[in-house]
Amino acid sequence: MTKINFYSGPAILPQEVLEKTKDAITEFENTGFSLLEISHRSKEFVAVMEGARSLTKELMGLNDEYEVLFLQGGASTQFYSIPYNLLDETKTGVYLDTGTWAHGALEQAKLFGNVNVAASSKDSNYSFIPKQWNMPEQAAYLHITTNNTIYGTQYHFNKSPKEYFGVEYPLIADMSSDIFSRIIPFADFDLIYAGAQKNMGTSGATMVAVKKSLLGKVNRNIPSMVDYQVQIANGSMKNTPGVLPVYVSYLTLQWIKEKGLNNIEQQNNTKAAMLYEAIDNSSLFKGTVAKEDRSKMNVCFVMEDKNLEPLFAQYAKENGLIGLEGHRSVGGFRASIYNAMPLSGVESLILAMKEFEKTKS
Ligand SMILES: *Cc1c(COP(=O)(O)O)cnc(C)c1O
Repeated sequence: MTKINFYSGPAILPQEVLEKTKDAITEFENTGFSLLEISHRSKEFVAVMEGARSLTKELMGLNDEYEVLFLQGGASTQFYSIPYNLLDETKTGVYLDTGTWAHGALEQAKLFGNVNVAASSKDSNYSFIPKQWNMPEQAAYLHITTNNTIYGTQYHFNKSPKEYFGVEYPLIADMSSDIFSRIIPFADFDLIYAGAQKNMGTSGATMVAVKKSLLGKVNRNIPSMVDYQVQIANGSMKNTPGVLPVYVSYLTLQWIKEKGLNNIEQQNNTKAAMLYEAIDNSSLFKGTVAKEDRSKMNVCFVMEDKNLEPLFAQYAKENGLIGLEGHRSVGGFRASIYNAMPLSGVESLILAMKEFEKTKS
């Protein structure tokens, strides 16, 4: 039985990426060695790191005011690296509290300076994205989470993000779970970061794209490993990078470029529309979040009758649909349908939902 991977992260990767990774683990580019055993200072690996950095910039359409880094420690390390570099006691970081990860980011910022939570949907278990907020006139930055992986909500901008929020100050986004899933004006953001393990590789690499003019303005000493300026000066290799995860990201970026971001976006739109339609038309299943905020990457749903949930969970597993458990804070189910999920994977899930429904009516 073919198994279909709905895990939220680490998550499904393109088959081509897995094949090329296998090859590189056996022998990397005629070096005579595995990728796992060559120096990160070798010209072969430096080309991987430089390739990943420049391809990220290219796909985002960012100019030379930006630098791209591949760091370790996951997106969670960026929660404190950002205020470490950009916030001090005299400054305010503005946060939109739209989910567990957004909340985690703002909690870490409190260690470094003033935090202003301009809006929050925490009291509604993050079932929607606030459309009204209270932004201060001035701030060091506004931090948002473009896709809330756990709750299945996502910003759908109807204009450029800077205009949408109406702020003049720098805009920062955690795009861990929807990076490169759609075309958005990346250059509207002054800093973008993403743990690679959802949509651009595997865990152990974290992409940071930062506008250089943002840096060097806080009044404190920064430990070199989290100092963006130090990492930039060292070509993203202040210490030994995760050679394998950076390589997997590089391959994934090449796959994205080959497919084209617009084609990827169209396919993502189709997949999400199909799945939400099946949920809405079902008598057993229902969505968990405001319709206008529904995520096209993480589709959360529950059952009208809670008692049926373990039965459908079992049925799905028996049919090879893996990783559908909802996060413990939401319950029910979550289908993560990242870029690498084929249309046929979503079709299989819809079919299973319909077949299960038949057995219950
Ligand atoms: C998964 C995730 C994180 C946490 O990423 P780590 O790399 O595990 O630290 C942060 N933000 C978002 C939006 C995520 O989806």
